Amino acid sequence: MIFKHDIVIVGAGLAGLRAAVECVGQADVAVVSKVFPTRSHSGAAQGGITASLGNEEEDHWEWHLFDTVKGSDYLGDQDAIEIMVKDAPRVIYELEHLGVPFSRTTEGKIAQRYFGGHTRDYGKSPVKRACYAADRTGRVVLDTLYDQCLRHQVKFYSENYALSLIFDGKKYVGVVTYDLANGELHLLQGKAILLATGGCGRIYQTTSNGFASTGDGIHLAYQSGIPLEDMEFIQFHPTGLYPLGILVSEAARGEGGFLRNRLGERFMERYAPTVKDLAARDVVSRAILTETREGKGISGKDYVHLDLTHLGEERISERLWEIASFARIYLGIDPIYDPIPVQPTCHYVMGGIPTDVDGRVLMDEKGSIAHGLFAAGECACVSVHGANRLGCNSLLDLLVFGRRSGLAMKQAISTLDHQTPPTDALRVMEEKIKKLFTATGKEKIGDIRQGMQSLMMKRGSVFRNEEGLKAGIEEIRSLKERYKNIGAVDKRKAFNFGFMEAIELDHQLALSEVILFSALHRRESRGAHYREDFPARADRYFLKHTLVFQTPKGLQVRYKPVKITRFQPEARVY
Ligand SMILES: Cc1cc2nc3c(=O)[nH]c(=O)nc-3n(C[C@H](O)[C@H](O)[C@H](O)COP(=O)(O)OP(=O)(O)OC[C@H]3O[C@@H](n4cnc5c(N)ncnc54)[C@H](O)[C@@H]3O)c2cc1C
Repeated sequence: MIFKHDIVIVGAGLAGLRAAVECVGQADVAVVSKVFPTRSHSGAAQGGITASLGNEEEDHWEWHLFDTVKGSDYLGDQDAIEIMVKDAPRVIYELEHLGVPFSRTTEGKIAQRYFGGHTRDYGKSPVKRACYAADRTGRVVLDTLYDQCLRHQVKFYSENYALSLIFDGKKYVGVVTYDLANGELHLLQGKAILLATGGCGRIYQTTSNGFASTGDGIHLAYQSGIPLEDMEFIQFHPTGLYPLGILVSEAARGEGGFLRNRLGERFMERYAPTVKDLAARDVVSRAILTETREGKGISGKDYVHLDLTHLGEERISERLWEIASFARIYLGIDPIYDPIPVQPTCHYVMGGIPTDVDGRVLMDEKGSIAHGLFAAGECACVSVHGANRLGCNSLLDLLVFGRRSGLAMKQAISTLDHQTPPTDALRVMEEKIKKLFTATGKEKIGDIRQGMQSLMMKRGSVFRNEEGLKAGIEEIRSLKERYKNIGAVDKRKAFNFGFMEAIELDHQLALSEVILFSALHRRESRGAHYREDFPARADRYFLKHTLVFQTPKGLQVRYKPVKITRFQPEARVY
């Protein structure tokens, strides 16, 4: 079936829904989502969203700007960060007016709490900057925005899987989707297309990301000729439940929890004397792994303890309810009485589809615009997080740049007519699907995915080096070869997840290669990218964004400069 809309948004997380809310009333908006909209990963966000409201302690957007730039290890574009942090208080009041039930102070103001890397007075001590709704912040914001979309009659294509972007040679004109309920293909024509498809954490074995975070949109853009920016920067969150990787939000440390090693030592005092357990995530993740490598993990294993026992039952039940319930359900541990075993877990991709500050997708280092295509949220790289994202800055990024993309799309479509999509767009996809259904190979999707996830942990996680990265690239290439030889996937029409996983694995393998390739070429350590063979940051050579292009001759790396406005790079000490 062919459907026409002014704006087609792929992704129903906070970035996609915020963009939709911006456009309703003035454009016919459709949102496509492979999962039911409110099951998008944004709903799993626990800790909060940052804004320098100053409700509990003095705060200023300039401090928020400084912290985000420093957190990014000076790779974030400072013009974009300034837009984001200045807009933050407006975002919070807007959410409040839409009905988000934020937690409150005793005076009735929106409550705020500590989060890693957020400080007062340019790094002097931690500051309460994260607004929250207990530890279910993403859930309540997602539900609120979904309500707003329903109220304004946004058309949802729920449980529809975007298979390809349609480019007519001059501009992006639509998306082909696969309807998971009945196996039908749809062509959704749009004057503007927004990719808001979230992250790709599922590439790694240990991850906090939901099953849907397979990087589809990032790869769809890449496949259609867009380069990928800064993909070497993959954030490992320090506290995933051991051994599952499920997130224990930084809110636990924001509320006063701390990490201990086998000797009972609060080891973060050695790594970050000023802010200790509230240092940026890359610093804490490396510290935990350094401790476990030195044999100071609990019982000599690969984990340490997150101790909340001193916080007391009331505080844990009121502010960290969900985290406590995860520890009880999955590990049988009650954090009121016992410490939680934690290990770093893959959490967030700082890189992605390059965009300008209005969500327009950029095609090269000169900033040429990909007409008709926009991207926002975790799949995009604006870049406000640079080499390392600070906690609670993602929800802010989604809402600020989701809205700005909406504004830019409204403006773009006012001058455009629908372009007729190339006639073979559906046929190409039909053939691709047929091929998967009739494949005769011997390889199994599950085996290849398992191979990819474990090699990415070994070669491309917190610690990297040239030898491992080179070997990793070879290993991924051989998995890509094996993928060509997969067996036929299940042919059933309704909810054929086997088919979906086969397509997802193709996306994941390609992105794994880009991650390792980008990491190999960055011969320095910066933020989340730590090279054991190049342990220092090398501003002279690498204060620049990586762009990886797919060319007929293979992958090619090019660079573009970082936008520096107020803060010149300094040593990053916490
Ligand atoms: C456990 C956890 C806790 C977090 N806590 C916080 C926090 O407290 N504060 C904070 O700032 N950040 C937090 N983050 C990070 C933040 O939640 C994410 O970066 C953010 O939610 C991503 O939002 P998004 O709108 O970009 O995409 P998502 O919310 O991931 O949504 C992606 C959407 O794209 C759709 N989609 C993807 N591929 C396709 C396809 N092929 N076809 C159709 N639809 C597709 C999905 O169905 C989904 O609707 C957390 C992340 C995790 C994993």
